[in-house]
Amino acid sequence: MNLELVSRELVDDDSIPVSEITDRIASWLQDQPDRGVGEAVDCLLATQDERVAEFAAQYLALLPGLHTQKTRVTERLRIDEDLVPVAGRLVPWLPTQLLEGMVRNYVEGDDPDAPLVDVVYEVGLYHPGLLRPHLSRIEDPDIRLAMMSGAPDAYVPAFVERWRQEGKIGALDLLARMRTEAAARALLDLRDELSDSAQWETFVEMAGRLPDSAERSGYRPAFLGSIADRGESPHVMGGVQPGEVPLCPLCGRATARVLTLSAADLPFSLGGGDPVFFWFTCRCYVVDSVAVKITPDGLQVFEGPRGAAEADAQVVPGERSLVLEPHPNQLGISLDATGGNARHQVGGLPRWITPAPHPRCPECASVMRFVASIDSGPTPFGRLNLDGTLYGFWCDPCHVSSVLHQA
Ligand SMILES: [Zn+2]
Ligand SMILES: [Zn+2]
Repeated sequence: MNLELVSRELVDDDSIPVSEITDRIASWLQDQPDRGVGEAVDCLLATQDERVAEFAAQYLALLPGLHTQKTRVTERLRIDEDLVPVAGRLVPWLPTQLLEGMVRNYVEGDDPDAPLVDVVYEVGLYHPGLLRPHLSRIEDPDIRLAMMSGAPDAYVPAFVERWRQEGKIGALDLLARMRTEAAARALLDLRDELSDSAQWETFVEMAGRLPDSAERSGYRPAFLGSIADRGESPHVMGGVQPGEVPLCPLCGRATARVLTLSAADLPFSLGGGDPVFFWFTCRCYVVDSVAVKITPDGLQVFEGPRGAAEADAQVVPGERSLVLEPHPNQLGISLDATGGNARHQVGGLPRWITPAPHPRCPECASVMRFVASIDSGPTPFGRLNLDGTLYGFWCDPCHVSSVLHQA
């Protein structure tokens, strides 16, 4: 058996849902030598079936690094019109020169719907600067919105003017999505001009600043996160948190530890200990956030019951870890997320499903800084017990972490 045969058997069976095919292929690949990297690469170098290629590329995109292998398969995929959309998944790991070549092919082809559009879309998210020289030739509204990330300071006065003259809130939304210092300063200056303070806070935070202090709303630098096996990274995911954990206020089911960041292994100055993030394993959804304080005596839970951790109450399949590598877009992706794509992040600014204000610390009432997001979707070890995306925030002076959920 090889990956081509295994995949084709699954994709040809209409009774198997796509998410199950992803999980079964990941499970098969995990059992192969080098965790299936060689199988996935060989398949992507040879297959003629875009459905098979899609699953192989999706698996490779769950694994950190492997820049050489991801580049090699993309060089093959780009010469085949049917297969090239699949390369979109690998964009975060591809070299600039290869991406520039594909972007040039797309704009010179003069067809906005050409198969390369899927790759160009991902370039807009991860390397918007590579698209900027071609702005006038890119029509897709989503790709143009993605290009707001890191847009030139010269745009700022025009957006402010459009807001002041025409009252268009959309102009401030675009300003917030620039995520530059110039945009943040302009939004801070507009405080008294917006009657909706939550809206103003959201914009200022999206641009990278906290509304109630001179600090940044996230940490630098930004990392991509990939869920790897236990011990591969000091940032622990899943497993069972010793001691008491928050419980669901409705059904009493234990929450699960999603992530503990190892402060000593991060380049940020987190003085308040190792941030730990919990989430519900039931689907009661009576509250949309979980906040805990890390104290020398264990966890203090805000606004809710606490009790013993349960081994079978899990969000992450088993005990794993989160491997970090530099995020290609250090300013932050401008286009909102959909959730479910296994796109995890530590540091940087949140990519919201629906832009929202950061939570306030339940202890000191200061606005909290964003520190990590964990997306739902596949992992190499099975699916996360989660929908949408979790956003983790941290108040360093109080040692308090808070998780918000969006779907
Ligand atoms: Zn519940
Ligand atoms: Zn606080």
